[in-house]
Amino acid sequence: VISYPSTPTRGRNDAPRESETDVIVIGSGFGGSVAALRFAQAGHSVRVLERGTWVTRDRNQVNLDAFWWPERGRFGPNDLRTRGQTILPWLGACVGGGSHVYAGTLKRDLDFGAFPAAIRDDDLDPYYTVAETMMGVRPYPDYAPYDRVRATQLMLRAGRVLHESYPDEVEEVGPVPLGISFAPASGTAKPSDPFINPHGARQHYSDPREQSLLGGDIGAKNSLDLNYLYLAERAGARIETLVEADRLERVDGRFRVYARRYLPPRTWAERLRNRALLRPVPTELVCFVARRVVVAAGSIGSTELLLRNRDLYKTLPNLGPMLGSRYSTNGNSLSLLLPGRQYVGSWIALLISVIAALVGFATVAVIAFVVHAIALYASKDRAYDPDLGTTNSDFIRLRGRDGKRQGGYIEGGRYPTPGRLVLAVVLSLLGWWRPERYRRLISLTVAVRRFVPPLELLARSWPIPLLQLGRDDAWGRFVLDERGRASIAFDLDANREYYDWIDDWGRKVARSVGMGWAHAPWSRWWRRVEVPHSIGGVPMGESIENGVVDHAGRVFGVDDLFVLDGSILTEPPGPNPALTILALAERAMTHILSAR
Ligand SMILES: Cc1cc2nc3c(=O)[nH]c(=O)nc-3n(C[C@H](O)[C@H](O)[C@H](O)COP(=O)(O)OP(=O)(O)OC[C@H]3O[C@@H](n4cnc5c(N)ncnc54)[C@H](O)[C@@H]3O)c2cc1C
Repeated sequence: VISYPSTPTRGRNDAPRESETDVIVIGSGFGGSVAALRFAQAGHSVRVLERGTWVTRDRNQVNLDAFWWPERGRFGPNDLRTRGQTILPWLGACVGGGSHVYAGTLKRDLDFGAFPAAIRDDDLDPYYTVAETMMGVRPYPDYAPYDRVRATQLMLRAGRVLHESYPDEVEEVGPVPLGISFAPASGTAKPSDPFINPHGARQHYSDPREQSLLGGDIGAKNSLDLNYLYLAERAGARIETLVEADRLERVDGRFRVYARRYLPPRTWAERLRNRALLRPVPTELVCFVARRVVVAAGSIGSTELLLRNRDLYKTLPNLGPMLGSRYSTNGNSLSLLLPGRQYVGSWIALLISVIAALVGFATVAVIAFVVHAIALYASKDRAYDPDLGTTNSDFIRLRGRDGKRQGGYIEGGRYPTPGRLVLAVVLSLLGWWRPERYRRLISLTVAVRRFVPPLELLARSWPIPLLQLGRDDAWGRFVLDERGRASIAFDLDANREYYDWIDDWGRKVARSVGMGWAHAPWSRWWRRVEVPHSIGGVPMGESIENGVVDHAGRVFGVDDLFVLDGSILTEPPGPNPALTILALAERAMTHILSAR
């Protein structure tokens, strides 16, 4: 907790320097980017405070620098820190927020039952259309080289089989809508070629041989810095990076926003100390003043910030009692498709070979190794290489347990496979990592695998991640500790019926393509869910009794304070939430700007 001057006034020695604009937007993710652009286009001076920094392809790292750990000088885009006993949120911490770490899936929500009455089912349609156009949404391509990705082919096949087998329960299957730029089907442009997007920003086309999580999609994914924020800056908005907002207070009809600005190490000595994780980076206290503030720090960030200001600093005492409630994971869980069934014999022979070698039975070891290789190559199958292609390319949409549409989704996922990940980390430690080098790592590892059967066996057996999501049953509640850090109380057992249901669909996907299925080990043994889709905490409502903000993100009880991000969603949407956050923010901005 920062100790603030008791009554900060302009010109006091111990008070930070102030700078004033019409609007301050805290956070540059989906909600914040819409607010920044629309306010700037309406002629307001806008300052965006973002705790992270710009994500660029040449600065991308595959080491600790990929993570958000500011106390130790790590300012990477992936914030992965547990919040309480059961929840491990995965958040974006950079200019563009979640749009740099997300998979690019942009789906519409079809049901707004728990939203305030002002938002009807077709009310968001025009805003969805605006958001889709801004983000350049299109379905995953059905032409080469994109349709050659084996893990994509597998999941599309699973979708077709399940749709035929369960026509009443499987609502829709196929290529997923994505905010990613793919090379056109015809013409001379190829994957990884550069182009200028409709907003004027430089991008390049997605290349399925570059691993997304290792930076392969930077510039190919239509992240917010290439559309909303790009245009906002051109309309005059200013983005302050490495600035983490902490305290908001209202003085004389204006908001003061106090923040810590991280000062990354400048000297070599400082850099080395930080590298060794020995010393926190220095910060300075900064203060920004504006008539209006948009809090858009995401479900976790916004809820924590507002709770801290209501309960710890007591600067926003009027925030409603629902603050911190209705946290949802959007039914997120990870499971694994296990392709190795036909290789059980080969694995057993390899195991015997290793044990025999260890205890000195050389002949047995050699014979078992030969059996292992023959059993492996007898199968004509190839590795699925679940690191190739975009993080998500396909979906299977399920009717809910209550019969409602969009009750659940199963999507194929991608992640770096272990051999290539290790090589990428080594390259990064040597300072030689570039996302495009992944293509060479693929050629190298495929060549090595050809001559080393155990590596080929490992590659062919390597699990393919399944992303499971949907309208679940459990709600979490944020709890603030005395240092102002929020954790989430979330009862996994209250969600058991939902998990059993969605896991059952995971098993059906596996059976439909003749594979095995398993829980992600950490969710079963560590009893934690890894949550990319955190929502809620600052729910919309009809009044302060049942919500913190109204249908347009206006905070009940505090004029000129708005919240526009995933925290205001009042129920798990079912589909991935980013497009709904954009559409809600677009709608809210229309209301906010037309009211003044
Ligand atoms: C691996 C992964 C894959 C995903 N895939 C998809 C997908 O395919 N489709 C989809 O719809 N969703 C996906 N999501 C979820 C999606 O990214 C989030 O739902 C979305 O980013 C939430 O948007 P937001 O505006 O609420 O907040 P965010 O996008 O999280 O933006 C909040 C911003 O505020 C900043 N911030 C936080 N606190 C402060 C502070 N105190 N001061 C200043 N700045 C602050 C953060 O750094 C961040 O930039 C995925 C998420 C992950 C992690």
